[in-house]
Amino acid sequence: MSAPPTREACLARDAHDPLRALRERFDLPEGVIYLDGNSLGARPRAALARAQEVVAREWGQDLIKSWNSAGWFDMPKRLGDRLAPLLGARAGEVAVTDTTSLNLFKALAAAIHLQAHGPGAARRVIVTERSNFPTDIYMAEGLAGWLERGYSVRLVDSVEEIPAAVDGDCAVLMLTHVNYRSGHQHDMAALTRHAHAQGALVVWDLAHSAGAVPLDLHAAEADFAVGCTYKYLNGGPGAPAFIWVPERHQARFSHPLSGWWGHAAPFAMAPSFSPCGGIGRALCGTQPVVSLALVECGLDVFDDTDMEAVRAKSLALTDLFIELVESRCAGHPLTLVTPRAHARRGSHVSFTHPHGYAVMQALIGRGVIGDYREPEIMRFGFTPLYTSHADVWDAVAILKDILDSKAYDVKAARSAVT
Ligand SMILES: *Cc1c(COP(=O)(O)O)cnc(C)c1O
Repeated sequence: MSAPPTREACLARDAHDPLRALRERFDLPEGVIYLDGNSLGARPRAALARAQEVVAREWGQDLIKSWNSAGWFDMPKRLGDRLAPLLGARAGEVAVTDTTSLNLFKALAAAIHLQAHGPGAARRVIVTERSNFPTDIYMAEGLAGWLERGYSVRLVDSVEEIPAAVDGDCAVLMLTHVNYRSGHQHDMAALTRHAHAQGALVVWDLAHSAGAVPLDLHAAEADFAVGCTYKYLNGGPGAPAFIWVPERHQARFSHPLSGWWGHAAPFAMAPSFSPCGGIGRALCGTQPVVSLALVECGLDVFDDTDMEAVRAKSLALTDLFIELVESRCAGHPLTLVTPRAHARRGSHVSFTHPHGYAVMQALIGRGVIGDYREPEIMRFGFTPLYTSHADVWDAVAILKDILDSKAYDVKAARSAVT
């Protein structure tokens, strides 16, 4: 095996990094190596002035007029149009709104509605992975339980078992494209093709994919998709999520959260619901305008790059991290959970360690911010927009020092958010 790169070699890679100027677009505290952009993206510098503008001028001075004059009312769709190219979606197909959990509920309900009113009427099963992010499973269980009439959720235990689980009873295959824990990336096109051949519809959760890996929802012929904007899209804490409904499904997109923002004429104040055309029917109620406005600051950064460049750097960073950890921390009980194959990897890397929580707390104490997920998993997110090769080298040096000196407290108390 060749020797792992030196810190100088990492600095040299940074000097030739086509994305290096983008780091200036973010405000990161001194002395912090931020490897948690997969959970909460860093703050775009522009977000502070934008928040000031929305709060002080648009709200403070222009008051209710801003629904029209500042474009507040159209923001979910306008931002959706700006996000669409990153997803392989088209204008008019994406809305930025609500939470990922809520959007998943709408997409699942719409998919089940399509099946129930078509040739799939007898299908009653939502298939997903046991290792999926829990809220996805909870929302599917909540919907299935509420629908009654025999609807249920089928959990599969491995990627290999998915094809067989999508059988003649399966109404919807609901998958998260990049697994939040392992970083495993599914083959979206192949699984969608398989599900369609079996008569099932597919809902993709792109929470750990949007802004992290190139996506082409149309090429994959996916049915519906949802995802977060506060992770790799850097929209800010609690920023609204997104939902994609391709044009071919829009006319029959029906879900039970029929709030007035999805009405054809909300200000006609009609006593009964009649859905608007297009992606607007995915909306429910009044949007969190301040938070929504900041999503645009995150999207602006992507105007100065493209997902191919982001992906190339992401793979370089995750490869470098794996190589450095496995060589410099050899001898410690670390096990790589993330696939080595590029096509199967997202933009974070997970290692297990028997004292994973304690080691992660020690890392955070020394300025290397990653996070911890049960069981025993230390998760490190790599955000090409603001993470450098030297950051990766320094993070591994600190990890090595903590492990070599056992400088972690195995009794570290758990915070509410890990
Ligand atoms: C982060 C994440 C969510 C978060 O859902 P919210 O409703 O926005 O809190 C959902 N699903 C997956 C797969 C995630 O990674």
